[in-house]
Amino acid sequence: MTGRELVDRFGRVHRDLRISLTDRCNLRCTYCMPAEGVPWIPRPELLTTDEIIRLASVFASLGIVEVRLTGGEPLLLPDLADVVHRLSAIEGADGPLRVSITTNGIGLDTRARELADAGLERFNISLDTLRADRFATLTRRDRLDDVLRGIAAAQATGLTPLKINTVAMHGVNDDELTDLVRFAREHGAQLRFIEQMPLDAGHTWSRAQMVTGDDILAALSAEFALSACDDRGSNPAQLYTVDGGPTTVGVIASVTAPFCGSCDRVRLTADGQLRNCLFARGESDLRALLRSGAPDERIESAIRESVTAKLAGHGIDDPGFLQPDRPMSAIGG
Ligand code: SAM
Ligand code: SF4
Repeated sequence: MTGRELVDRFGRVHRDLRISLTDRCNLRCTYCMPAEGVPWIPRPELLTTDEIIRLASVFASLGIVEVRLTGGEPLLLPDLADVVHRLSAIEGADGPLRVSITTNGIGLDTRARELADAGLERFNISLDTLRADRFATLTRRDRLDDVLRGIAAAQATGLTPLKINTVAMHGVNDDELTDLVRFAREHGAQLRFIEQMPLDAGHTWSRAQMVTGDDILAALSAEFALSACDDRGSNPAQLYTVDGGPTTVGVIASVTAPFCGSCDRVRLTADGQLRNCLFARGESDLRALLRSGAPDERIESAIRESVTAKLAGHGIDDPGFLQPDRPMSAIGG
């Protein structure tokens, strides 16, 4: 500990920064975006690569050791490898920043190697179904083959662990959960099932419709012997070995078993707003500070204020819960 860490009122030390590089996307997953998309953030409002690097350096000086690039779809950035290269050259408390990416995988077949060479630590790829017709309905784009090629390319880089994220949904893919685990096992990947959260732009989420972590475990247990792994730390996923390992599967039960008490994450949106939680109602405008010529100390104070204001939990179960104004695609999942 250097004494400069971002510690909040509940003693949580923040080490993980999620950076959304764009709110744009080439898919339209129903649980994330409406068919017509959302009003995109105007380009002049998006952070430049230089601005992202400057902010990441300030965060690194405050104890951030890990950066996850997300969006929208981060592969839409033509200079993504340059962003990865520059971020992974920033020194954090434990050495260079560890940089990973969450992506829908489209286009990764031609770019995975370049990203690995630029210093990327690992890939998280989203895949909710193995059936082309379902994929087309769910994402409103007929591109399952592109994603599968992307997964193969990520596997070929040898970066581990390769993670695959699946949002489990009733009547959509809940009959495919074991198939997805087998697919992940064949690709040497760790599958992580995510409970659907109230973050869709269309505000259609309903708790009653949600496949819960318990539902997921019950479905998997019918076919596999699962054994819970210890030492979860700040990992949002509870991991289980599958049939004695080495394959593991994760369950991210953000709604039914929140892990807010060990959360170590803060989020920077593509337009430079700092959010202390996925579900935060407020944001801190770091872009305005950057563009007004503020020194690092002023940016640091704004980051500390935001972390200090972080609530104990996301409050999805509170009667007064309000979904954030930004959809997931504009926050960065
Ligand atoms: N486009 C990239 C992708 O899909 O991986 C990165 C951004 S996406 C917002 C990040 C992750 O959030 C994906 O794994 C996606 O499935 C998940 N996600 C999006 N909307 C969600 C929701 N309402 N509930 C739970 N997870 C969601
Ligand atoms: Fe795009 Fe990812 Fe949202 Fe799907 S979940 S629409 S791939 S940002």
